[in-house]
Amino acid sequence: MNDSTDNTLSIRATVMQTPTTDQLEVRHDVVVEVFGGLIASITPADDFHGQVDVVLADDQVLVPGLIDLHIHAPQWPQLGTGLDMPLEEWLFAYTFPLEASFADEDFAQTVWDSMVPTLLANGTTTAVYYGSTHNPATTALAATCAEHGQRAFVGRVAMDHPEGTPEWYRDDSAADAVAASAASIDAIRALGSPLVEPIVTPRFIPACTDELLTGLGQLAHDTDTLVQTHCSESDWEHQYVIDRCGMSDTEALDSFGLLRPSTVLAHSVHLSDDDMAMIARNRAGIAHCPLSNAYFGNAVFPARRALAAGVAVGLGTDIAGGPSPSLFANAAHAINASRQLDDGVDINLAAADRGMAGSRIDAITAFWMATKGGADVLDRPIGLLEVGRRFDALAVTIQSFGDGTPPGAAATDSDERIFEKIVRLTTAADIDAVWVDGRRLAPVPQK
Ligand SMILES: [Zn+2]
Repeated sequence: MNDSTDNTLSIRATVMQTPTTDQLEVRHDVVVEVFGGLIASITPADDFHGQVDVVLADDQVLVPGLIDLHIHAPQWPQLGTGLDMPLEEWLFAYTFPLEASFADEDFAQTVWDSMVPTLLANGTTTAVYYGSTHNPATTALAATCAEHGQRAFVGRVAMDHPEGTPEWYRDDSAADAVAASAASIDAIRALGSPLVEPIVTPRFIPACTDELLTGLGQLAHDTDTLVQTHCSESDWEHQYVIDRCGMSDTEALDSFGLLRPSTVLAHSVHLSDDDMAMIARNRAGIAHCPLSNAYFGNAVFPARRALAAGVAVGLGTDIAGGPSPSLFANAAHAINASRQLDDGVDINLAAADRGMAGSRIDAITAFWMATKGGADVLDRPIGLLEVGRRFDALAVTIQSFGDGTPPGAAATDSDERIFEKIVRLTTAADIDAVWVDGRRLAPVPQK
């Protein structure tokens, strides 16, 4: 493969992708032409007569880049650890002390230089990040994404509630938090990167006063900026909002002006039908974080039910509430979790009473959430390799398992089986190339 240094190229490959929640599209041996980062044409190779810059091998497939809708960037150093207590205790014991240390800009930069290339190496071409309450570290995160060529939404976390936050890690007042959030939006936009956008980030309702939530809703409106927050994540968080606000988390966020088009609602495990209808109506969306939910959600997110309600659903790792940096691992676990929701888990109940029938999702739906679903939540032209969208893509080696067949086992596997293997088994080691906006990146993980 040739390296492309600008964002115009042509690439010959077999494309696998999921245009809808239940459709696997396979286009054998096509040439994808990219001009200025934009997909200009996709032509059967036999009918293409121009120059081809990159040719994938027979055991490689081109797939859309992955979209991670929920990452806590300053929690990167604790990835894979500390998942032994409920959310409300985990925050104070492990997470707030770590996040507070991002006042140190050198430390922050060291973490960003480890995290961003590692996520790219895992196939995450678009990342939606929580920063910390520190503006310099948050701006540096946005600059690091721009430097490495990752598409990103970067949010300066706002949190001022005297009971929901420790006094050593909180904004001094609602007014201060709104002003710092506005300054962060300006600083990220001043970087001038077409790949990186700011995002208004109230941590979640328990960490924010009503005054702050109202101020951030107004700020998002005034500056035309997306919003991210958590919604109905766990039993505790869900009930806390009902007790304090007298309504559901979804309704409360709407009342504060935060349930806007493309607002990213992390988790949203404990939603009523009315909540789902409101999210769909407002054209907000959900970041389904299946690995994190196993530790903190107290239940399984009903992905099939949300999709049937017309809600846009993407996937999130929820680093470090989820212990993996890989959206492939999260897609695989989304399938697992849906199967357990479908069957139920309590052997003391009769099989017929144990689960929620109709909850299963398959590899196609899971990959759709990791790509097109995330793009739908964000309302950006990514997540699918089709004319008119940006070229964010991965070259993935197909798995074989030492059964004597060549790598890829293409001679014996159907397209559907190859695709299932990609979704369930791909690790960073199987991702041979990453392009964002038509540029090939060199996402070598930094230790
Ligand atoms: Zn989170």
